Amino acid sequence: MSEGTTNENEQFNAETLEDPAGINFFPERRGDKISRGWFRVLFFGEGRDNLQKLKCERQVHNVVSESPLIKLMMDALKTTGCAIDLNRHISCEPCSKVVTGGYDAEMNQIVICQNTATSKAAVHGALAHEMVHMFDFCRAHVDFKNVDHLLCTEIRAANLMHCSFMSAMVMGTASLIRIRKQHRECVKRKALASVMAVRDLSDEEARAALERVFEKCYNDLEPLGRRLRRNSKDIDRVYRERYLYGYGYS
Ligand SMILES: [Zn+2]
Repeated sequence: MSEGTTNENEQFNAETLEDPAGINFFPERRGDKISRGWFRVLFFGEGRDNLQKLKCERQVHNVVSESPLIKLMMDALKTTGCAIDLNRHISCEPCSKVVTGGYDAEMNQIVICQNTATSKAAVHGALAHEMVHMFDFCRAHVDFKNVDHLLCTEIRAANLMHCSFMSAMVMGTASLIRIRKQHRECVKRKALASVMAVRDLSDEEARAALERVFEKCYNDLEPLGRRLRRNSKDIDRVYRERYLYGYGYS
């Protein structure tokens, strides 16, 4: 990570598709448009990024109005005192090719990557994941500089979103014990990958942090766990429609 990007990356939590070490994920963050010129020339050509932005914003609006899972998360955020205003809290931007979204704690803003999250499923997946970070930041003021905090919110996002939909898919074809084991492994793998992508950690440091926080964070199912029991109809619908959201696939 270069000097100039260190600070923002410490407060910025990116969702990675593969190992992006050393890459500045979000060229347009922090208000300046310094990178816009080269970005446009190199990747899109004049005007193309505006079209992508419009398309992305439309996808976000569709997902927010259609998805019961996103509605549950919006409700939870509102109840916790952090209601989402789409224009203020969600931003479509061009990003590095290796990420689909991120959460900017300093700005309390979710970034959806207009150039990589191009399908509805990808937008939904990124939004749902980042909303868990937003919820955690609202509820507990997560310190993203603290590795334990960061790992915890990544464990929760993987647990509540990505990995839960994956394991729901294989139910009926595998024993319960196997599903439970696979689910835990999925959460560990995904959370570690997310943290390692934005932090310069050794394997041992990462494993040690996982050891410290896993059980506690894995068993913290707010806000969906509580709602699972209280409002099972919504959750039924969420699971029935999981394929639409990009969670039905690994
Ligand atoms: Zn994350």
